[in-house]
Amino acid sequence: MSGRVVLVGAGPGDADLITLRGAEALSAADAVLYDELVARELLDLAPPDAVRIDVGKRGHDAPTRSQEETCALLVKLAREGRNVVRLKGGDPFVFGRGAEEAGACAEAGIPCEVVPGVTSALAAPALAGIPVTDRRHSASFAVVTGHKDPTRVSRELRWDALADSVDTLVVLMGMRNLEAILEEIGRVRPPETPAAAVMWAGTKRQRVVEAPLGELAARAREAGLGNPATVVVGDVVRLRAELGAPPERPLAARRILVTRGEEQGARFAELLEQAGAESVHVPMLRFEPEAEPLELDACLGRLATYDGLVLASANAARFLAHRAHEIGVDLGELRGLVICVGPASAAAARKVGLRVDRTPEGRRDAEGLIEELARWIEPARKRLLVPRSQIGRERLPDGLREAGAEVDAPVAYRTLPPERDAPEAEALRARLIARTIDVATFTSPSAVRNCLGLLDPESREALSRCVVAAVGPTTAAALREAGLEPDVMPQMAGGPELVEALVAHEARRRADANEGGEPG
Ligand code: SAH
Repeated sequence: MSGRVVLVGAGPGDADLITLRGAEALSAADAVLYDELVARELLDLAPPDAVRIDVGKRGHDAPTRSQEETCALLVKLAREGRNVVRLKGGDPFVFGRGAEEAGACAEAGIPCEVVPGVTSALAAPALAGIPVTDRRHSASFAVVTGHKDPTRVSRELRWDALADSVDTLVVLMGMRNLEAILEEIGRVRPPETPAAAVMWAGTKRQRVVEAPLGELAARAREAGLGNPATVVVGDVVRLRAELGAPPERPLAARRILVTRGEEQGARFAELLEQAGAESVHVPMLRFEPEAEPLELDACLGRLATYDGLVLASANAARFLAHRAHEIGVDLGELRGLVICVGPASAAAARKVGLRVDRTPEGRRDAEGLIEELARWIEPARKRLLVPRSQIGRERLPDGLREAGAEVDAPVAYRTLPPERDAPEAEALRARLIARTIDVATFTSPSAVRNCLGLLDPESREALSRCVVAAVGPTTAAALREAGLEPDVMPQMAGGPELVEALVAHEARRRADANEGGEPG
């Protein structure tokens, strides 16, 4: 029994711009073939056991699969009896090569259905506050490809004729040849014609640059706009000021490297994305329990004798609890104070069932903690337990000792670098060299060292051209030691604080570039 193929338009941008019919088709799919620009959350709508195949291609970049291969794969999967959804960005028949895929199915005698989607040609202008038609300004619009395709129809595209006869021009795939395209249009339309480019429409990363036709190319480049973006030319762009498009997010479309470990990094990346950034998460640290935790075990054995447990990281809390559990020690035996260096370690401590007695109010680093604890430690030589990683700095235990404490600092976990030939490491080097990372964030000295350990001279050089951000002074020092001057550092060390500092830095950068991002 033969299956069938449904060509589904996913809409542009975020997942919720798909149609109800498209969502329904996905929920009944045995196989989903999807493109690069399709929102990944949509894949969750398919049943868990459906196969999901990335056949993505994006703009001019080398396709992962040729169009012929994609067509052949559709036919093959359907012949195996599967219900195949071909999920395409926007509408399947607007520059999506959907017709070729439907044609391949027809030729193979496979039933094929189309579920239209919201096309970015109309949605991108709309989401930027630009209606493509308006009684006062535009009675017609044309959607044109800016891709220099070698086919005849594309070679014979007449920009001057179009620009002369159509009120609103919408250009898709136009970023690569933007200068040439706008120049062609400029032969017919005056340079002061209102125009705009809308990047990542329908997502938190959406960015808009509005400028007169004659300046749009330069302004869009200056602002760092690239694919995917839709360009609109015509008097309707004026309406943007009246309609009040939603404001751009403060880090919209900035591509930000997150080097923090798995879990904390994910939270940090989420904050960045809320601010509109695209996060590129490459954890520079792996954590493992210490293999032979003899010292830790001994400390856990005398847990009741400590006046205080000092937790300098979430991992310290986590791995301490992990080992205690393994050897049957109840953390409840601890009678001393639990002191955490910051909110992350405090949250982790609470999660493993410890009550948190203190977190320093001021600086959240070793020095801040030592300063705050010094008066408490002094009169009666307190006994402190300070679990740490094998590469943990001695500054905290030593500083506490200098302040008069008796300190046990056993290794509770190991911090390991990522592997140099791991695919993520390779992808990171490639992205740095291709300049598709704007900002690199570092949240610990070891992340700095491990990151640099993954780079070759070329990607290392590329990193120094990114905006480099440090979470606090210790990390900043490690960056300087490696010859990288941090551009951004928050007043107080911390993930949310770093995001705020990045937002402020970006606002200054945009003000300097003086781009016309806001209407009016
Ligand atoms: N079938 C798609 C278009 C595919 S061509 C549709 O109907 O939307 C790919 C082009 O679409 C990109 O080069 C860009 O010009 C445009 N595009 C796709 N997603 C976009 C988005 N989120 N914001 C702005 N333009 C987008």
